[in-house]
Amino acid sequence: MRDFTGKVALVTGGSRGIGAAVVKQFASQGADVAVVYAGNQELAEALCAQCAADYGVKAIAYRCDVADFAAVKDTVNQVKKDFGSVDILVNNAGITQDGLLAMMKQEAFDRVLDVDLKGAFHFIRHCTGLFLRKKAGAIINVASGLIGNAGQANYSAAKAGLIGLTKAVAKELAPKGITCNAVAPGFVATDMTKDLEGQDNVLLAAIPLGRMGQPEEVAGAGAFLAPMGR
Ligand code: NAP
Repeated sequence: MRDFTGKVALVTGGSRGIGAAVVKQFASQGADVAVVYAGNQELAEALCAQCAADYGVKAIAYRCDVADFAAVKDTVNQVKKDFGSVDILVNNAGITQDGLLAMMKQEAFDRVLDVDLKGAFHFIRHCTGLFLRKKAGAIINVASGLIGNAGQANYSAAKAGLIGLTKAVAKELAPKGITCNAVAPGFVATDMTKDLEGQDNVLLAAIPLGRMGQPEEVAGAGAFLAPMGR
């Protein structure tokens, strides 16, 4: 396991689910962690306290709507003040607002794009200056298996966009020593998928392994992608 001591990992949507597992993974490998959350302050702060107690790292929670360009700028500036810099950015915050296309409201399409796609752009945009100065940095975007589920036109479009964003950013920043990768998990057991559990569901039946993934399995893949660079 790589030692991330002295590095700072900023994880969006770090209060629960996959993001919380990513936070713990990086902390367990010695990284200080900045945990961005939307509303679950108690969860985010408890996780930070746990990381500090279990792994002796610095951990601070930040409330920030990733869809808000200006708020993300302020948050990155605050993280820079608190930690000195950012070395690893994990764009994990995400939501679903499922619905059949014929009835999907414009607001539901826009909000999912704003959080799941533009949120990643906002953090990349505001962290890139820090990475360029050091000629180092790792960006990991949490996309999704691109199978295009019915009822998820907004989510599927956002995650496909995130893959495109990842590829373009990777090409643009790799010559500067900064990597950008995506992980694209299938179904993972979190709050996002809890309604599927226990159902005789065709989506779950299609999983060859016969079970959902666990957040820790995705977190391991995320940490694997962090050390790349020149
Ligand atoms: P989750 O358990 O629902 O957690 C979502 C996280 O995102 C929470 O920490 C939440 O913060 C945060 N968040 C939501 N909206 C936000 C906003 N506007 N600004 C800042 N933070 C926000 O979700 P999950 O299943 O762990 O999913 C994490 C990522 O993995 C998402 O991008 C999702 O699309 C992707 N993914 C999930 C699955 C799956 O099957 N679960 C599969 C593939 C990909 P609060 O706790 O404060 O609300």
